[in-house]
Formats: sequence, C-alpha cells, structure tokens
Amino acid sequence: MLPDSPRPNGMMPVVDAERIVLESAQILGTEWIELGDAMGRVLASDLLSPQDFPPAPTSSMDGYGVRHADLVTIPCDLSVIETLPAGTVSQTSLQPGQAARLFTGSELPPGADTIVIQEDTQRTGDTVRILGAYPRGKFVRQQGQFCQAGDRLMATGQVLGAPEVALLAAVRRLNVQVYRQVRVGIFSTGDELVSPEQPPKPGQIVDSNQPGLSALVRQAGAIPHRFGIVKDTESGEISGGKAALKQAIASALSACDVILSSGGVSVGDYDHVESVLEELGADILIRKVAIKPGKPFTFALFPRESGAPQLYCGLPGNPVSAMVCFWRFVLPALRKLHGQRPPWSPGFTTAIAQSDLKAGGVRETYLWGRVAIARGGPEAGQLHFFPANEHGSGNLVNLAGTNALAILPVGTRRVQVGATVLTLLTVPIA
Ligand code: AMP
Ligand code: MG
Repeated sequence: MLPDSPRPNGMMPVVDAERIVLESAQILGTEWIELGDAMGRVLASDLLSPQDFPPAPTSSMDGYGVRHADLVTIPCDLSVIETLPAGTVSQTSLQPGQAARLFTGSELPPGADTIVIQEDTQRTGDTVRILGAYPRGKFVRQQGQFCQAGDRLMATGQVLGAPEVALLAAVRRLNVQVYRQVRVGIFSTGDELVSPEQPPKPGQIVDSNQPGLSALVRQAGAIPHRFGIVKDTESGEISGGKAALKQAIASALSACDVILSSGGVSVGDYDHVESVLEELGADILIRKVAIKPGKPFTFALFPRESGAPQLYCGLPGNPVSAMVCFWRFVLPALRKLHGQRPPWSPGFTTAIAQSDLKAGGVRETYLWGRVAIARGGPEAGQLHFFPANEHGSGNLVNLAGTNALAILPVGTRRVQVGATVLTLLTVPIA
C-alpha cells in the first residue's frame, strides 16, 4: 500500500521508495561456514555459551593469591608455598598463613580469594609481606563473572566483526551458521560504453559503473557477478537493443538474487529498461523518485516459483546518480537480505555546513562532500561538512575522496554556511 504522499511530476518521495524496496527484500536462507570465513558475515542463530567465562576464578593482575581472612593486621607476613604461572593449576589448597605467587590469567588455588598486587608486597625468600589493606575478592575474576553457561553471547542478526570472531573462537565455534550472501548481477547499458581494458574510440567512454558497483556490492558483504555491457542498438554483428537487454536480464536472473543495471532508465529513445521489464512481466513498483541525483531510479520484482522474489534495481547511468541510488535504496535492501537486524536505513547524522549548500527545492537533494570531525576550536568534536566544489551528476572525478552526502529536503533551496545539515555517511569516518 502506498501512502498518500504528494507526487510532483509522478515522482515518488524518497522515503516511500526506500520503504517499498525494503518491503520487497526478504532473507534468502542460511549456510554453515568455517570460522576463518566468518568476518563480515551475519549470524543466523543465537550463540549460547557452552561454559562459564572465566571457567574458574583467575587473577587479573601479577601478585599473590591470599586468604582474605589472613589480612587481619597489616602489615602481615605469609609464606609463599607455590608459584602458578598462567596455564597451571594448583594441586594443593592454601592453608592459613599461606600465599601463592600468581600472574595475570593464573587460576587461583583452592582457598585463595583475593589477589594482592606485587606493588603492595615485599618479598624476602619464601615470605611475602602484605603492606596494605585489601577488600575481599580484589583483582579476582570470579568464575562466570563475564557470562555463565547457557547465557546468550550473541543474537541472530549480529554482523561478525573482529571482536565477534574472537568470541566465536573462544567458545570453539569452528563452524558458524550465517545468512547466505546475496548474489548481485551487475550490467551496464549504453552504445557509448567500452570496458576499462579497452581504449575508448572517439565518442566512447569507459564503463566505470560495473567496477564501481561491484566494489559497493562487495563492501556490503554481497557477491557481485558482472554480466558486461549491453548495447542500446543493434549494428551489424553487434547485438543490442531490447533483445540483448532481455538476454542479459535472463542470464542475471538465472544466477542472482538482485540485479543492478545502470543506464537506460531515462526517457531517451534508447532507454529500454522500463519497457523491457514490462514485456518480461516484472512487477514495476518504482519508476521515478523525487531524488537528485537519481530521479529515474526504477525498481521491479521478478516473482520466483518458491521463495523470495528477485529484485531488479534500474540505476541511472550517470556514475554519481548510480552510486547515490545504491547508497540510498540498494544498500538498505542488502542489509535486510543479509539478515541484519533493523534499522536497515542509512545511518544519518548531522554536520555543520562549511559553505552554502544550494538545491532546486523540488527533489530531495544529495550533495556529496567530506565530513570531518572538528579537531579544535569551539566546535571541537562536532562534525563539519565540506561540499565538493561542483555537483554535476556525471562528475565522478569529485565524488572520489568524499565520504558523505548532505541531504536537503524537498522545499529547501539553501542551507547557509554554519547551519546544521542532515548527512548520510558513505564511508565510516575516522
Ligand atoms: P543514461 O542513464 O543511459 O541516459 O546515461 C546517462 C549518462 O551516464 C550518459 O552520459 C552516459 O554516457 C553515462 N553512463 C551511462 N552508463 C555509464 C557507465 N556504465 N559508466 C560511465 N558512465 C555511464
Ligand atoms: Mg544510456
């Protein structure tokens, strides 16, 4: 169901388009992988602890394990009966007046309940003098202090980064159940395009969208499959036009869950994507969005006999438009398809504009630039947004090196320097 949002010129509001794309995205299934391949994947079942952590009381410092009951008068002398490096286990139990030399990670011998750090002791032969008063249990990591057997260590939907991989290893999960990676078919359309390996002839340009979109897909944890360049027209030996487009879509559908095409979604004579989708019986849900750049973004579903439908994202050909549509619509869908927990929308933040920002006011406008953390001055710690010098949607040159998009809502024509602006981070900032 679509809301009754205003649709100037048949353009769908950005939030509605995102919602429709997200509603169409459904988890694909799960698989088992080896721990070494787990980085970046998404956990598909809760991880329960098979044991207490720590499994036994251990020392968190280098020092002496003592019986707190012995520390009645300070200073006091205790006899050191053993030395227990980490990894060893005591065979005896501490008796009154006794201490054990311990190190960080050493298991406490039975009877010991407190660690006195070595800085608070004086050692003479087999005697250790305790110099300061200590509360009971000081510097002891109690058995089960971090978690107990059966506790949930991680929940389904957790993205596995370095700490999560380490935790899986700690509980000896050599195989991990994760959600299946999304297979994304990518192709470009346009008579003018040649692959980067080929020097362009006059009138031709290099297809930068396939490599760029493949990189975005990989960054999102999905698997890119490239299906090449589809010509808009037929000429001599070279196949093109609608038949070639149908062929490319059929190939991508046979191998992928999501298709990203670029180009051919505008209203030009050779923009065939929408009509071909119609001829193929796809369910076209989005034809135009009130976004700049990215207005011709087209979205359709190919139902499958069983399971989730395949998603078709027709991205505009302009390299910046294609990437903006990816960040705004495709990336949230990939997050959901990968089984991540919501929210799937981009993480928006605010930043202080460092120059005036201008927009037409008719479409939600995305202006690329750099967000940086102010390192000094009265705004230290706040985010600053430095727009790129020019915002042509074909200008791939100044998109490189940016990490954010400032967003000017419909109706806003100007954000003044020094004012706060909503931004979408395209790269994590350091
Ligand atoms: P289109 O959306 O097909 O009308 O293309 C819009 C503009 O983007 C045109 O100037 C194209 O030459 C350019 N373009 C289309 N596809 C690509 C591509 N794969 N790589 C680089 N530029 C492209
Ligand atoms: Mg084209």
